[in-house]
Amino acid sequence: MNPPQFRIGLGHDTHRLGAVGKPLLLGGVLVPHECGLIGHSDADPLLHAITDAILGSLSLGDIGDWFPNTDPRWKDGDSALFLRHAATELVNRGWEIVNLDSIVHAERPKLGPFKRQIEAHIATLLGLPADRVSVKAKSGEAVGPVGRGEAIQAEAVVLVSRRSIG
Ligand code: MG
Repeated sequence: MNPPQFRIGLGHDTHRLGAVGKPLLLGGVLVPHECGLIGHSDADPLLHAITDAILGSLSLGDIGDWFPNTDPRWKDGDSALFLRHAATELVNRGWEIVNLDSIVHAERPKLGPFKRQIEAHIATLLGLPADRVSVKAKSGEAVGPVGRGEAIQAEAVVLVSRRSIG
């Protein structure tokens, strides 16, 4: 059987809102809000979901395996570092990202004005053309932990392909 030329990865993350005085980061972009997200690192659910999707595409475990939230090195850590680390592991194994799609679930703040900026920032972090990255935003329709404004969640899916030789 020929080895596969494409694989996919899926990522999901949840962080609770309520970190007073902590900046709200989504996809590495500072989004003005009255509070940030609670977490060991900078608590960026979108970058965590994308990192997990990249790791998952090659069955490399999850973000907690690579960056345990009990490790003081990652306290208030920049999640862009986690993302770049996963992307480097992918490249080192001979693979590249074809495209990634994602959803951020947040009741507030409204993310519509920030989606394009977040896409561009993630594309830059991954060294991808901007049209390979998609960020969509959904409200929680006033139900569940997202809808009640208690949490922000993110999902991501990534398609990867073997790098062509020569
Ligand atoms: Mg997380």
